[in-house]
Parts: sequence; structure tokens; C-alpha cells
Amino acid sequence: MFRLGAVCFLFMLLCSCRCLNTKTDEKPLDVTIEPCILTRNPCYTAGRKIDVKGLMLHSVGCPVPSGERWVKLWNRKDYGRACVHGFIDAHSGVVYQTLPWDHRGWHCASGPKGSGNNTHIGVEMCEPEFLKYTHGATFVCSNEAASREMVQRTYCSAVNLFAYLCNRFQLNPEEPGVIVSHAEGNCLGIASAHSDPEHLWRQLKMPLNMDSFRQDVAKKLRVYNHPFRKHLSSGRRTKHQICHYGTRG
Ligand SMILES: [Zn+2]
Repeated sequence: MFRLGAVCFLFMLLCSCRCLNTKTDEKPLDVTIEPCILTRNPCYTAGRKIDVKGLMLHSVGCPVPSGERWVKLWNRKDYGRACVHGFIDAHSGVVYQTLPWDHRGWHCASGPKGSGNNTHIGVEMCEPEFLKYTHGATFVCSNEAASREMVQRTYCSAVNLFAYLCNRFQLNPEEPGVIVSHAEGNCLGIASAHSDPEHLWRQLKMPLNMDSFRQDVAKKLRVYNHPFRKHLSSGRRTKHQICHYGTRG
């Protein structure tokens, strides 16, 4: 009897250990990731790595919807101005991964408190071809319905990608400063003065913002075996918007 009890106890212990194990190798949900590493870009050849502490969402700021086009533009030895970890194609929603996730990118420059390049993965959403920037981050749009559809597509892909990355790097999407936009990074003092991507959602009058984004990532993350999944809020919009900003380019 004692032996049987001991065997059962050992079996239960093993099962509970298996349940406590955290898998971080799950595949991304509902998003295709195409590896297209920018091996010629000086940022790649610099070869620096980071300990990933967060994720920064960007929008390219010009009407080039094709992720492949961005890959071609930036995969050059003489393109030393910038480099990001991925572009989300506005027509297909496909993510073109352009740097290894733990590579140090050049996506947000720096601010008085340092640089998000040292801590955050940076991903760009491509923008509809129907936009025409007039000054700074202000644009006019020749086809609002099609543009909203494309922007919604990149938003959804970004949610799925960020949930995957939160799982992979064990990040809590609802912790302040973990998932930020470029504009919020600027408010936090770790990025240059840009207003992306919120300028896009606001001017296209879409009901999207970084709080909704974080909330949607948290919802998606529940399907993963993520250590924070039981602590994530459920359906209620979080209220830790970091600051308000203008339309600085
Ligand atoms: Zn940006």
C-alpha cells in the first residue's frame, strides 16, 4: 500500500513538474514569418546582441506597403541609417523578419534616458499606398476604406507577432514600458521624437491605440503556456497609457 502510494505520489509530482514547465518554442499564431535577414546592412554586420526586455511598435511613415520592397531598400552595405527586426506587409500581413530577434537594432535612436535599441525589438508596420504625407506626420488619404483595411491587417499581424515574442522572451505585455510605440518610447526618454504609429490610427479615425494593442496582445497570449497568462486582465481595457503626444514627425 505504501509502495503504491509512493509511486502515485512520484507520478503526480512528475505530472505537476511537467505542467509547471514553460514552453517558449511555440509557433506564432495566425501570422506568417518570412526570414529575410538584412545581412548586408551595417547594423547586422555590427553583430551586437541584446537581452530583450520589450517590444517597440513602429509605422514606416511613408506610403510603401510592400515588406519585400523595404527589405530590398535596406539590405545594402551603404544603408547605415536604420535597421529593424521586421516589416509587416500591408497587403498580406506577412512579417518579413529582417534581424535575428536578439540582435541590436537601429530602430528608435535614443533619448535622455538612453536607447530602446539596447532593450527593445523594433517592428515596422508598412503603410497604405493611398497616403500622401504633407508635413511631418500629417497626411492626406485618397482611399480611406482601403487604407483602414490595410492598417487593420498590419495591426492584427502585429498583435499576433507580439504575443509570440512575449511568449518567446517571457515578457508581460501589461507591464508598463514592455510594449511601447515609438511615440511612447520618446515620452519615456528612450527614443527619438516620432509619433508613429498612433498618428496613423488617429488620422484614419480608427478605434485603435496602444492600450487596445497591449490588451489584444494579452488576450492572444492566453493560448500560449505563458507564465503570466493567469494574471493577464480579461477584456477590460488597461489604463496605463504613458503620455499624450503631438504629431511630431
Ligand atoms: Zn518609428
